[in-house]
Amino acid sequence: MSETVALNATHDPALRSWVPSANSAGTDFPIQNLPFAAIRRAGSGEAFRGGVAIGDEVLDLGALHTLAPFTGIAAQALAACAAPALNALMGQGAAAASALRATISAGLRAGAAQERAWRSLLVPRSAIEYRVPADIGDFTDFYASIHHATAVGRLMRPDNPLLPNYKWIPIAYHGRASSVRVSGFAFRRPRGQLLPKGVTVPFLGPSRRLDYELEVGIFVGRPNELGTSVSLAQAEAHVFGLCLLNDWSARDIQGWEYQPLGPFLAKNFATTVSPWVVTLEALAPFRAPLSRPVDEPPPVAYLDGESNRVGGAIDVTLEAAIETQKMRAAGIPAHALSRSNFRDSWWTPGQMLAHHTVNGCNLAAGDLLGTGTQSGPEPSQAGSLLELTLAGAQPIALPGGESRTFLEDGDRVILRGWCARAGFARIGFGEAAGTVLPAVPPDAS
Ligand code: MN
Repeated sequence: MSETVALNATHDPALRSWVPSANSAGTDFPIQNLPFAAIRRAGSGEAFRGGVAIGDEVLDLGALHTLAPFTGIAAQALAACAAPALNALMGQGAAAASALRATISAGLRAGAAQERAWRSLLVPRSAIEYRVPADIGDFTDFYASIHHATAVGRLMRPDNPLLPNYKWIPIAYHGRASSVRVSGFAFRRPRGQLLPKGVTVPFLGPSRRLDYELEVGIFVGRPNELGTSVSLAQAEAHVFGLCLLNDWSARDIQGWEYQPLGPFLAKNFATTVSPWVVTLEALAPFRAPLSRPVDEPPPVAYLDGESNRVGGAIDVTLEAAIETQKMRAAGIPAHALSRSNFRDSWWTPGQMLAHHTVNGCNLAAGDLLGTGTQSGPEPSQAGSLLELTLAGAQPIALPGGESRTFLEDGDRVILRGWCARAGFARIGFGEAAGTVLPAVPPDAS
């Protein structure tokens, strides 16, 4: 039986780094985190390569590789980081990433002999630009929060919010990998077929009900062959790490198009991910029991297991904030709309991956799974405007005097995530931000 990743010396809360900013309280990137991204110097035109965040700095793994500092599987993992995307590193599996993490952790520790050689390999995070961490072959978006599914279901079917399959099967749709972009991307408001209330003939127009979705992204590590499945016990060995994910959604397009095959153009125009991928190993101190009430029937056997019940969930606080064009101009900081926690998810990452492959579907290194909007049990913990405004019926007041039901042009949505637990170093995910531009223009050619 496979377990969730064990604690080791890299999690020691007493560790300090020779990079001073990594030791400041509240940093997302202390030495206990060490997340990976695909990086280069902003505006340089250099090739992208792997990087590890440490405080306000980034350790350039492409440059570190040229020093050939490691041996064995850590060296192989580091070599993979010289590539412009992290697929090869992800595909080497958890042991390789773990060996690399251990050697990087040792080299960044206060007093490490590596300080002198590695100091010149640091680039300030403010001078870095990112790409999507992996070449994403396929993107699947789940619907794993029962609180989101219930709240959205209630808006459509007040008497019967949750469909009968929900508690048994991890619901998902196949998304679009081509429009996944890294944090900082501005995208055009989608156009689509609309059929507002009281209208009988659909028409083409810019979405009037553009929304965000506060989600966690899961990058697949070790692949599985077509025709094979991954058991729940082995599932986490196929997960590289987690990021933040915003599954931008056009609710009006969605409501008209989704029956009976599910979301299509309402979702595939843009998806934003955070640049930093936090490894499952870094998340080991923050594992949580599956939050399923004891009176619920157990899942079908292939989705049930002791280690999943005891520690399959992950305690990640998630937050969505908004900054409008007017707020930006007035110097008003982003306004938090809600907070939720990934530990409240009905399905765990392991269950999602096991279910995805149970029919023999192959997952490749760098494939992306979204968890679906992560809403908490309280209405104020909703992870979308659809829920927070009761489908537009209850506008949200913003500082500066504006209000919102759905997103307007110029709005910027910022997702954040972090893990905190007594006795361990707090770690964070950075942010996943995206800005709404005016609608897609008609083809003028
Ligand atoms: Mn979604």
